[in-house]
Amino acid sequence: MAIVEFKDVTRIYTSGDHELRALDGINFTLDEGKFVVILGPSGAGKSTLLNMLGGLDSPTSGTITVNGKDISTLNNNELADYRASTVGFVFQFYNLIPTLTVYENVTLVKDISKDAIDPKKMIAEVGLADHLHNFPSELSGGEQQRVSIARALAKNPKILLCDEPTGALDSETGVLVLKLLLSMAKNYGKTIVVVTHNQNIAKMADVVIRVKNGKIKSYEEQPTPMSAD
Ligand code: ADP
Ligand code: ADP
Repeated sequence: MAIVEFKDVTRIYTSGDHELRALDGINFTLDEGKFVVILGPSGAGKSTLLNMLGGLDSPTSGTITVNGKDISTLNNNELADYRASTVGFVFQFYNLIPTLTVYENVTLVKDISKDAIDPKKMIAEVGLADHLHNFPSELSGGEQQRVSIARALAKNPKILLCDEPTGALDSETGVLVLKLLLSMAKNYGKTIVVVTHNQNIAKMADVVIRVKNGKIKSYEEQPTPMSAD
């Protein structure tokens, strides 16, 4: 079943009389539970696409349907509700709040969702049960990203959106974090969309979407994705 549908989605940025088509008539659907990778050169429109799906920005035209609901015409309050209930975010630089502990960082996000999972359980599942009361600065990069994975999943969203989730990690740590992210997404039945430049991540995906100049260049389903091993 399709959980995401983009229909003729265009996003135009204007400054003065200059117009830039960051996305130009994009169409695709994503099935529930899939691991989707979005590839493309810098400036291709990947972040814009992820921002639309995440309810951080709205298209200039076209419709975006997520979980049966058109999100393209929501106002700011409705978008905030959509983000709280439907999407979890994992960023390249973790975006943890430095003055809060691991437990507090995860709880803060969980508090805004009705269907939240116990934060302590999520923190244990990412292997950080012994670090509940540590601050982000006391953790390694890989550990900080694991906190942000626990945070994203604790609110029990339908979709996980990840922007270069291993981009700030060395390659060995990156593989471990990615494996953890994928196995948890699978266990909890999440659809996961990852924007990356990393071809090794793309090899593991169920679907690879290539974007260039605001358009989709290819949409490839990989029937037997390579495992993370
Ligand atoms: P990518 O993530 O693939 O690097 P982006 O989606 O960030 O690409 O950007 C696509 C295009 O839109 C680029 O040309 C970029 O400069 C432009 N762009 C992105 N965000 C904005 C913005 N807020 N205002 C104006 N132009 C933007
Ligand atoms: P990244 O490639 O790390 O995802 P961004 O998406 O933040 O980086 O930016 C991609 C491009 O969009 C950059 O070239 C940046 O200069 C441009 N851009 C981002 N935000 C704006 C903005 N508010 N106004 C103009 N250009 C922007």
